[in-house]
Amino acid sequence: MISISDACIACGICVGVCPANVLEIKGGKVVVVNESACIKCFACEDSCPTGAIKVENN
Ligand code: SF4
Ligand code: SF4
Repeated sequence: MISISDACIACGICVGVCPANVLEIKGGKVVVVNESACIKCFACEDSCPTGAIKVENN
């Protein structure tokens, strides 16, 4: 599963790097809109400046 903590500053970097359009900025925060499309590439996690987003391998 994908979790986003309060450390998120809604910079949108994860949205931009995700190859599967899993994430969107909505109402000033990041939301997971299509988790089933996630290919677990970890690009979002690797590019997040605050370590707010975590992708778990299950
Ligand atoms: S792990 Fe990859 S596919 Fe999944 S949400 Fe992050 S960037 Fe998108
Ligand atoms: S990259 Fe990190 S801080 Fe930026 S919007 Fe995504 S989860 Fe939030």
